Amino acid sequence: MFQHRHGWNWSVPSPASVQKWLDQIVSDAGVTDAVGETLRYTAHDFRRMFATESVGGGLPVHIVSKLLGHKNISTTQAYTAVFDEELVRSYRAFLDARRAVRPDGEYREPTEEEWRDFHQHFEHRILELGTCGRPYGTPCKHEHACIRCPSLHVDSRSHDRLAEIAANLRDRIDEARSNGWTGEVEGLTVSLNAAAAKIVSLERMRDGVHRSSVDLGIPVIRGLHS
Ligand code: SF4
Repeated sequence: MFQHRHGWNWSVPSPASVQKWLDQIVSDAGVTDAVGETLRYTAHDFRRMFATESVGGGLPVHIVSKLLGHKNISTTQAYTAVFDEELVRSYRAFLDARRAVRPDGEYREPTEEEWRDFHQHFEHRILELGTCGRPYGTPCKHEHACIRCPSLHVDSRSHDRLAEIAANLRDRIDEARSNGWTGEVEGLTVSLNAAAAKIVSLERMRDGVHRSSVDLGIPVIRGLHS
């Protein structure tokens, strides 16, 4: 049953009638945009508002999706406006909730010794060929065999040094072969292959093979200032 301003009307209203009523209601309410123009709402906008308010109010998006009759949840997500303030508020609420279940001791000021230890960790990551990327607080698990280690971030200025190391490894492999030190040949070859791979990777970067970025489809939040 529908009622418009002129009385009861039992028929299903046409889209044009609904739009006319909406325009009238918005005009009567004096709802304007930033420059004073009367806003225009369509009936479809109310589905978007419903989705936004429901998700913002805590209703799971898959439930909202069912209520709106969407087959695909991503359609519902596209309906849902996420405002910067709401994003910040939700993230802060998430952090507060997470902190509330963690021990208080984790939120104390670090001691002098801990600060020193923290700085030292980064000082000890500076290597001949670049930087060690192992996580803070973890020891070197690869016996400082950096040339073979995947945690080594090679500095682009290390190309010539790497080439020298590779040449030296080749000489040592030749020497080991001529002396029948087969175990040595094996270990040195692993190092040589690792050095060669790092040289190739540096040259690819230098030649711009990786210059263009790859779109991984990760959402980007623009204009958010926390
Ligand atoms: S071997 Fe790896 S983890 Fe160890 S210091 Fe070298 S780069 Fe770091």
